[in-house]
Amino acid sequence: MIDTHAHLDMLKTEEDLIESVEKLDYIITIGCDKEEIPKAIKIAEKFENVYASVGYHPYDLEGITDNDLEEIKNIVKTHLKVLAVGETGLDYYRDYTPVDIQKEFFRKQIQIAKELNVPLIVHSREANEDTMDILEEFAPYPASGIIHCFGGDRKMMERAVDIGFYISFAGNVTYPKADGLRDVLKHTPLDRLLLETDSPFLSPQKKRGKPNKPSHIFYTLEFVAEFLGMDKKELERITDENALRLFTIKELSAVQ
Ligand SMILES: [Zn+2]
Repeated sequence: MIDTHAHLDMLKTEEDLIESVEKLDYIITIGCDKEEIPKAIKIAEKFENVYASVGYHPYDLEGITDNDLEEIKNIVKTHLKVLAVGETGLDYYRDYTPVDIQKEFFRKQIQIAKELNVPLIVHSREANEDTMDILEEFAPYPASGIIHCFGGDRKMMERAVDIGFYISFAGNVTYPKADGLRDVLKHTPLDRLLLETDSPFLSPQKKRGKPNKPSHIFYTLEFVAEFLGMDKKELERITDENALRLFTIKELSAVQ
């Protein structure tokens, strides 16, 4: 099982980290601010089955400059264990950063991902229309991307699928009130479906209120399989195949 989105540097304990690394086949850990980026890279260097994605989250862009983006570009270009750009995107829920600046940094990071031909990991909260408008400006995406912790409606999902993106559901899809989200899940093409924990946030219902960790992904897997009327193992196989298609393991291609 692959967890396509976790913040391993933020897990509660070292045991949580070890357990997660042991129970999952692969984990993509995200570094999305100045402090987290080096930590994510370090963890990816330490564990064979952990890979990283780096970028700047829209929640706090204060003091981030073009030089920082240049650095992101260099890391993604040269580091064998850094596979993608992000998470980046738009967050109008928190809006700590003015919308214009969020959009500017989103566009610039899209361009980096496209230039390097790597996947783009997108965060969108209460900004779904603008997120999709900007993503569509830059389509097509030969290396694809993910709308992570999907929280949009069916229309957004369809627009994302149309530009070749994957739709990743997190633990909140298991919440009793998430009927709208489950309706989107039901209509998401299986070959575009991913699962993630977004650890340490958004623990699935069975562990709600506790800090999340990648090993909790099995609760989400079980829930989604049951909801879709599928065998758990079959769903795992499909979502893992999707993740592996999306994330090219550079170490493997470097050897060949
Ligand atoms: Zn995240």
